[in-house]
Amino acid sequence: MSNFDCLMKKYIHFSLAVMLAVATSACNRADWSKEELSIINASGELLRVLTVDNPEDSLFLRRPCEEIAPAALGSQTLKKLGDKMLATVTSPEQDGVGIAGPQVGISRRIVAVQRFDKQGEPFEVYPNIRIIARNGETVPGPEGCLSVPGRRGEVPRYQQITISYSLPPSGKLPVRDTTENISGFTAVIFQHECDHLDGVLYTDYLD
Ligand code: ZN
Repeated sequence: MSNFDCLMKKYIHFSLAVMLAVATSACNRADWSKEELSIINASGELLRVLTVDNPEDSLFLRRPCEEIAPAALGSQTLKKLGDKMLATVTSPEQDGVGIAGPQVGISRRIVAVQRFDKQGEPFEVYPNIRIIARNGETVPGPEGCLSVPGRRGEVPRYQQITISYSLPPSGKLPVRDTTENISGFTAVIFQHECDHLDGVLYTDYLD
């Protein structure tokens, strides 16, 4: 092998290593940031909901979210964040059917959704959620958003989707991903909330 080839090979290996390190740190940050911890650990059970009326909030709501690191999935911090998101979305002043991390100042892939397709219509929390399949035709339906006060609009959404999300460790089972098929209005809520994780608001679909 010539010196040049050898150098090129080293350079390519180095570039790949750097790219891998950057990619890993970008989507799989192990630690909560200082800002995230101060929001999650603040006193009181409710979180402030960011709205588009506030220019800083508006920019934050447009940021694509990062994954939650596997090490954080069974943590008390994540449990506390989930509990506070649930308390916030169900509070009388919000009274929503779903809420996403960035709406409470946490730029992470996490949503809380009311499962109208389950008995008792419980609210549930989904870390590292993604929609991995959208099936059938879209149907327009009315939507609003806690972060866009005083507006409503018709948005076309798929009626059948498949979601993937992380399960925290339980007993002898380690952290693992699972998938689930969702249909009807609950699928609409998941699409609205997952859009938030990509910095998309429902108003983007309106004329
Ligand atoms: Zn929303």
